[in-house]
Amino acid sequence: MNLEILPPKPTRNFLKLRKKLIGLTGKAIMHFNMIEEGDQVMVCISGGKDSYTMLTMLLALKKKAPIHFDIIAVNLDQKQPNFPQDILPNYFIDHGIPYEIVKEDTYSIVKSKIPEGKTTCSLCSRLRRGILYKTAKRIGATKIALGHHKNDIVETFFLNMFHGSKLKSMPPKLLSDDKKNIIIRPLSFCEEKDIKNYANAMNFPIIPCDLCGSQKNLERENIKSMLSIWEKNNPGRVNNIFGAISNIELSHLADKSLFDFESLKLSDNLKKDIDSFSIINFINQSQKV
Ligand code: SF4
Repeated sequence: MNLEILPPKPTRNFLKLRKKLIGLTGKAIMHFNMIEEGDQVMVCISGGKDSYTMLTMLLALKKKAPIHFDIIAVNLDQKQPNFPQDILPNYFIDHGIPYEIVKEDTYSIVKSKIPEGKTTCSLCSRLRRGILYKTAKRIGATKIALGHHKNDIVETFFLNMFHGSKLKSMPPKLLSDDKKNIIIRPLSFCEEKDIKNYANAMNFPIIPCDLCGSQKNLERENIKSMLSIWEKNNPGRVNNIFGAISNIELSHLADKSLFDFESLKLSDNLKKDIDSFSIINFINQSQKV
């Protein structure tokens, strides 16, 4: 396996950016204990900039990690029209990366269920998730790595808040509902702009994500532009929001199922203070009489 995938003439700035991304990926992995000794990590590759970046980060970290883990790249060929079937296998072979291409025609299912002109992503993602879970089980993968980054996490947070009245996002590490799969997001601490610059310099053979002909998810697009305006006017705002997602005070929100507001009681010391204060008051009042 070729663990050092670099562009032909890496510039100093590129190496700095790569170092930054590797550092942030390693930090997220350690922080959430994403990868453990002996793990078989199934790295989901769509052919977009994020998944290629994640793969090269994990390969670089595998080389220097104090633990042993294995990587297998998995692509789901969803049978979209004009999907370039050779790009990913060629990339994996060229770099000596173990891989598997899973072929399942989710495209026809999605097209038959969703009316023309509507966004098809939510059904498509659900189908894809089910297939990836099954694949992980079949190949003995202990972790499923997805390429979502910090901006994806913040956008999803607002999508769920605005359209679902719920404070939730994509967690860096997640146990599936049936408790049979663990999903990890090693790029959770990485910003999209850095990934974009890195992917451009790496000249990855990108597969466009609009082959399915789905309409853009307008709600996500609106949130993206809201966040980019905020970021432009107040640089660092997206980082602050991500920081807030990682630093929650349940007692200062309003979810009764997560914080026991009903049983809040004054501390015994304070009660004693109040009692003694009342006695003094009582004595003072009595003396005046
Ligand atoms: S853009 Fe197309 S392939 Fe991607 S999630 Fe949406 S429907 Fe699926």
